[in-house]
Amino acid sequence: MRKKIVAGNWKMNLTLAQGEQLINDILQAGLTLKEGQEVVVATPFPYLLKAKALLKSYPGFYVAAQNCSSEKSGAYTGEVSAEMLQSIGVDYVILGHSERREYFHETNEMLAKKIDQVLANGLKPIFCCGEPLEVRKAETQNAYVAKQLEDSLYHLTEEQLKQVVIAYEPIWAIGTGLTASSAQAQDMHAFIRSQIANKFGREAALHMSILYGGSAKPGNAAELFSCPDVDGGLIGGASLVAADFVAIIEKLS
Ligand code: 13P
Repeated sequence: MRKKIVAGNWKMNLTLAQGEQLINDILQAGLTLKEGQEVVVATPFPYLLKAKALLKSYPGFYVAAQNCSSEKSGAYTGEVSAEMLQSIGVDYVILGHSERREYFHETNEMLAKKIDQVLANGLKPIFCCGEPLEVRKAETQNAYVAKQLEDSLYHLTEEQLKQVVIAYEPIWAIGTGLTASSAQAQDMHAFIRSQIANKFGREAALHMSILYGGSAKPGNAAELFSCPDVDGGLIGGASLVAADFVAIIEKLS
């Protein structure tokens, strides 16, 4: 059975006190997660330890980092390694978010190395892919996303691939209020799953959780999550408001 996941990507927002309050408010909602459902909170690095402590005794709740180094260790001032994240109890690492690709020049090849570091340390990558608006307008989004998958994931073994979660985040939908329609999301998710099936086999493809990200909110989450190949969401803005994040989690079926 593949996991259904709602992950909140806080990006570079909130103070520690605000983050603690947000997590406590989410927990206060008393959500009961069904079997196979997970909630992931991706906080800035300085809050991960605290977030883990707050969530530790709640089954189904996990923490994620938003990035990690492509290197194992050493003289890389300012970087945070996958091993460090593992040592403080982090569960997932978001990799290849479009903001990191755009502002920090992360390439598919660099992301392949980050994926390797994350997997080597027993953590699970949430690998982000998705096309910019001009690619969508040219209707070449499938080829664009296929290349992202190929360059960063196709060197993995089937066993390793099974640890990976994919998040499809069309760049034109991130923070814009413009959501992909459920048909657009379903088409791309089905395409991604078919690519994974071609490369790694049907079983691996059926096992893979593929999340949608981009202006997901309480009002559109139910429709998006009802698509057969949409296994949850990677939520930005709406994950910063406890009531909205909880309402989105409640749309998981
Ligand atoms: P928004 O939900 O704010 O559009 O952000 C999506 C996102 O980038 C999650 O990683």
